[in-house]
Amino acid sequence: MPRPTEALIHTDALAHNLRRARASAPDAKVWAVVKANAYGHGIERAYAGLQGADGFALLDLNEAERVRALGWRGPILLLEGCFEARDLELCSRLNLWHTVHHEAQIDMLAAHKTQQPHQVFLKMNSGMNRLGFRPQAFRAAWQRLSGLTQVDSITLMTHFSDADGPAGVAAQTAVFEAATREMPGDRSLCNSAATLRFAPNDGAVRADWVRPGIMVYGSAPDFPDHDIAHWDLQPTMSLRARLIATQALHAGDAVGYGSRFRATGPMRIGIVACGYADGYPRVVREDTPVLVNGVRTRIVGRVSMDMITVDLAPVPEAGVDSEVTLWGRAQNGAVLPIDEVAACAGTVGYELMCALAQRVPTRAV
Ligand SMILES: *Cc1c(COP(=O)(O)O)cnc(C)c1O
Repeated sequence: MPRPTEALIHTDALAHNLRRARASAPDAKVWAVVKANAYGHGIERAYAGLQGADGFALLDLNEAERVRALGWRGPILLLEGCFEARDLELCSRLNLWHTVHHEAQIDMLAAHKTQQPHQVFLKMNSGMNRLGFRPQAFRAAWQRLSGLTQVDSITLMTHFSDADGPAGVAAQTAVFEAATREMPGDRSLCNSAATLRFAPNDGAVRADWVRPGIMVYGSAPDFPDHDIAHWDLQPTMSLRARLIATQALHAGDAVGYGSRFRATGPMRIGIVACGYADGYPRVVREDTPVLVNGVRTRIVGRVSMDMITVDLAPVPEAGVDSEVTLWGRAQNGAVLPIDEVAACAGTVGYELMCALAQRVPTRAV
């Protein structure tokens, strides 16, 4: 028998969450963002649930080839554009749309020979200061691009730094609007947080294309202000394992490396076949929630490479082989949002799902 540790990818939940993005941005077209191997879900596994998207956005050319290999004929967008001139040949061959965020990418495009003009997303740095042309340089970049025979259409794009927090998107939206006034072309601004929080009530933010990523994967971008239940999102990845042993402790007994946990009285603990080598974060704090047989309990002691130890007090019937859900949905339907576990590790759901380890057998259900 293989080690009883696995990750499940929930196809229906992906489709549900994608519909939630659509409902939040009516009339806008939806890029399902599938970068980082579909946020750790596996592009091939996530694809079935995401086929209702208008396009797939990613940044690795390899991943673009994989989406085409799945038979997708619709738009694919490279969110960071081309890294070298050669990449444009692949764009031409696979009909990839690509972002242009700095001058050298325009130079490459100007030197590129293609039968078929490209769809380009021109990116503005409206305040985040990672990628894009400054607002003052945006119009000149647009003029240069639109003079190229290699370019078919230009979509205007920017990315928000604070869509999930108190600052919101108003300042960057104002910068973007002022600098693109009366320019033709579609527009694209929203990530997940902006799609959920601002797109429903603001047409300028919603624009023509939204680019939801994390919400599609069942994580609330503004946790802990709101959780997935608030946004009506469903977990798309469940990390599950089983108990491979139990121990009856007496008062004063220690558990695991460093004896971090010490029993204050008699208690039962379960030993779970999952550890940091599976992608479960070692840094979680004591009392991090976990589901045993779908019942909420807590971690005690340090996470080790292959094992975690959990308190069985709330689940007296649990024993060897009992089901453990580290995040996601238990067999009985109970949900432990990945955001809660991430918060206990001082990080976000994004990082945990992307860090699911190679050794965990993963299948779509
Ligand atoms: C990753 C990414 C997104 C999606 O962001 P989420 O917060 O996961 O919704 C959208 N746009 C760009 C440019 C990105 O790089």
